[in-house]
Amino acid sequence: MATELLMPKLGLTMTEGTIDEWKKKEGDSVAKGEIIYSVATDKLTNDVEADCDGVLLKIIVKEGETVPCKTVVGFVGAAGEAVPDVGAAPAAQAPAQSAPASAPASDSGVLIIGGGPGGYVAAIRAAQLGAKVTLIEKDKMGGTCLNRGCMPTKAMLHTSEIYHDAKSSEDIGISCKDVTVDWEKVQGFRAGVVEKLTSGVKGLCKLNKVKVVEGEAVFTGPKTVSVGGESYSADKVIIAAGSYPIIPGIPGLKGCKASIDSTACLSLDHIPESMVVIGGGVIGLELGSVYMRYGTKVTVVEMQPKLLPLMDGELTGMLQTKLEGQGMEILLNSSVTAVEDTKKGAKVTVKCPDGEKKIDCEMILVCVGRAPDTCTLGLDKAGIKEDKGYIVVNDKMETNVPGVYAVGDCNGKLMLAHAAMAMGETAAENAMGGDKKFNPEMSPSCAYVGPEFAGVGYTEERAKELGIAYKVGKFPTSGNGRSLVSGHTDGMIKILAGEKYGEILGVHILAPSATELIEEAALAIRLEATLEEFTDTIHCHPTVAEAVRECALNCDKKAIHIPNK
Ligand SMILES: Cc1cc2nc3c(=O)[nH]c(=O)nc-3n(C[C@H](O)[C@H](O)[C@H](O)COP(=O)(O)OP(=O)(O)OC[C@H]3O[C@@H](n4cnc5c(N)ncnc54)[C@H](O)[C@@H]3O)c2cc1C
Repeated sequence: MATELLMPKLGLTMTEGTIDEWKKKEGDSVAKGEIIYSVATDKLTNDVEADCDGVLLKIIVKEGETVPCKTVVGFVGAAGEAVPDVGAAPAAQAPAQSAPASAPASDSGVLIIGGGPGGYVAAIRAAQLGAKVTLIEKDKMGGTCLNRGCMPTKAMLHTSEIYHDAKSSEDIGISCKDVTVDWEKVQGFRAGVVEKLTSGVKGLCKLNKVKVVEGEAVFTGPKTVSVGGESYSADKVIIAAGSYPIIPGIPGLKGCKASIDSTACLSLDHIPESMVVIGGGVIGLELGSVYMRYGTKVTVVEMQPKLLPLMDGELTGMLQTKLEGQGMEILLNSSVTAVEDTKKGAKVTVKCPDGEKKIDCEMILVCVGRAPDTCTLGLDKAGIKEDKGYIVVNDKMETNVPGVYAVGDCNGKLMLAHAAMAMGETAAENAMGGDKKFNPEMSPSCAYVGPEFAGVGYTEERAKELGIAYKVGKFPTSGNGRSLVSGHTDGMIKILAGEKYGEILGVHILAPSATELIEEAALAIRLEATLEEFTDTIHCHPTVAEAVRECALNCDKKAIHIPNK
């Protein structure tokens, strides 16, 4: 049977390609591995090799024609063999135009519910595009991210890192005698960071003429909300209501005085002696790391077989070893089954693979995930579809009600602040007539644990699940001068690239400044870059970024500074 020749998918973002040139004519013989046609995207041109010997029986897609990926473009087979009728090749749709930043001013009103990173970014972008914007916030501008999430945790991680470094730098010749913690000042620093950032957001809204209304918005119709009895409506509505921490139904947990959530954990009035963290996700590990560095005995209990379930498994294993080396106890495949109050805090019962454990602790930090803050929004009054509280949206962030969008944690696509901001920009541009899409697979993920951890694109687990043929490169930070200087030689960089064309599919970094380095990788994936383009880019020396390039070289066994295995 004749073999189909397909328009290849040369990168995560490629949806269509143009036949640049047929290197053979119909009737020419073709050998396996021989270049048979070349394909162009808006960014690169790639040669496509024949998978088998035979004759080019038929060309379906002519030179210059653009078709979606995986479309049959021709057939190879035995001379004289019949070719199946596949009809005319489907033409690719003209690329969608996003609303340009300089789109003509519009007098449409946009109503935004929630002033977190999803909501305030949507407000500013809609205002830039000419909308009259009203933003309603029931608590504090800046949302979870600025008030009780990303930024206060990073302030606490920063102070705890300085304390830890001051106490443990004797081996590099720095002795700090009598290092002490002034907890009130530490807390003051955290509060100061929050104050500066939230007032900055208020200032930006003012600058962009966004009207901010204080109060809780409740839908009374598809595009109408009531705030403290006053009614607001607009042509377009963007919901950015965010999320709140889940408290699981563990017997004894509700009402246990020693139990806190991530918000309370940020403003404790002292450093606890011991803490059981329920949940080994990003928030539990970041806050657990803060208190561990300040001397708290931290035990993390995680139900799954690995920490950070969505990140690359090999690297999370290395992170676990690192955290255990720093003094954190980690119980995997384990779950908390009961909690009881004690004089000094609580007794936690944990079901572990090797039996039951009872752990006495001063505090229990509950970090098992977050739920969408939508139950009091009155979504039913607006006819907006939800699924377990998450507002259902398409890739343009639009709900089932035309003109009503939902962004950030409340739609559950990806519960991270930068994803909320990207969704906010997408919704605002679409509300103003654009045609922009948000793809969660293009968004990097991050965890600020020592050293940092970041990833973008497919993990090895995901690539296997999808049956993608890939090659992998690895580079240990022990082979990188800059990592050696900062004492982080137990990290690793890992790159997955398509086996045939070398397109970059996933980059995972456990190394100092991983959350800064991942942007280069995100851009590479966004631009459908190949290993060659990545490695042809000169990187500064000495940097950790050099190790990312070396890792790309290792995919083809060409790394310079390690033996290529
Ligand atoms: C401890 C912690 C650390 C984190 N660290 C990071 C990190 O390092 N990096 C990262 O990317 N993400 C991090 N996150 C996640 C990040 O904070 C969230 O993904 C992000 O804040 C979501 O933004 P959002 O705009 O969707 O929602 P939110 O930030 O939750 O904002 C929603 C806002 O809507 C308001 N609101 C809700 N309902 C109504 C209503 N009916 N009327 C009026 N107002 C309403 C709320 O008061 C809130 O201010 C962290 C989260 C936590 C808890």
